[in-house]
Amino acid sequence: MKCTQGGNFSKGELQRFGNIELSPSAGVLNYGQGLFEGLKAYRTEDGKILLFRPEENAIRMRMGAERMCMPSPTVEQFVEAVKATVLANKRWVPPPGKGSLYLRPLLMGSGAVLGLAPAPEYTFLIYVSPVGNYFKEGVAPIHLVVEHELHRATPGGTGGVKTIGNYAAVLKAQSAAKAKGYSDVLYLDCVHKRYLEEVSSCNIFVVKDNVISTPSIKGTILPGITRKSIIDVARSQGFQVEERLVAVEELLDADEVFCTGTAVVVSPVGSITSMGKRVSYGEGGFGVVSEQLYSVLTRLQMGLIEDKMNWSIELS
Ligand code: PMP
Repeated sequence: MKCTQGGNFSKGELQRFGNIELSPSAGVLNYGQGLFEGLKAYRTEDGKILLFRPEENAIRMRMGAERMCMPSPTVEQFVEAVKATVLANKRWVPPPGKGSLYLRPLLMGSGAVLGLAPAPEYTFLIYVSPVGNYFKEGVAPIHLVVEHELHRATPGGTGGVKTIGNYAAVLKAQSAAKAKGYSDVLYLDCVHKRYLEEVSSCNIFVVKDNVISTPSIKGTILPGITRKSIIDVARSQGFQVEERLVAVEELLDADEVFCTGTAVVVSPVGSITSMGKRVSYGEGGFGVVSEQLYSVLTRLQMGLIEDKMNWSIELS
């Protein structure tokens, strides 16, 4: 789907996956005008396909587009494009319990621009891939390292939207962490260098005495759709959930730590290393709280329990 600056997106079309043509002076290549989303389609036991909360991705893309001076598809256009893409790729949706079809909606400044300015033209596309677990650990605990020097976001910056540059900002710390055997990096706020923000591609939760805490959304962390869903699931299960500043020291005596995201779903954290000191959680699996939340969320996403919140869209 294409659109000029200030215009409306045209009706899209389905195309076979392949390279696309871009001007060397496209806004996305020169000035980082790009946003993406990630969502999943699951196959149910009775052959239906469920899409988890696609309108939330549409709303987040629209918020990001506003920050990045880009036009964006309407929520209806976005959801219709997602549905059409899944239906055209039905055979790639894995069988129940064997993974999901990951969808990657991408919005970019595709028009040519030389001086610094928003691009004159935009492209919205969606590509797909069947996926299994995100971390090589599967649902086994992941190992994080706290980054004390590099930051992924600053107040007033673009950390709260899903723009491509945020991911460029994490590559250095993430590659260094992986080279040392960690699964990923846990970032701190760049003002006090003390409060938890998020992991390179997921949100973080800390459990102490059955109270679940997660950093509040304040412009520097991505408002994760899994984060929001887990907060609702946890409250519906009777847990107290606090969205607040969570200090790095709280990791020292937490009972459980876990991450949430479309790709990682709910992943238990087995250890966190900060300033060379390693703290371990659990006994090599989920903690009691994270296991309960993982179980409810995944059964909801796969259509195994009643979807009381009407989160999933059914395609057949
Ligand atoms: N934070 C970052 C930086 C991410 O890239 C993601 C993945 N989109 C998340 C958090 C989790 O967001 P969601 O639950 O919407 O996938």
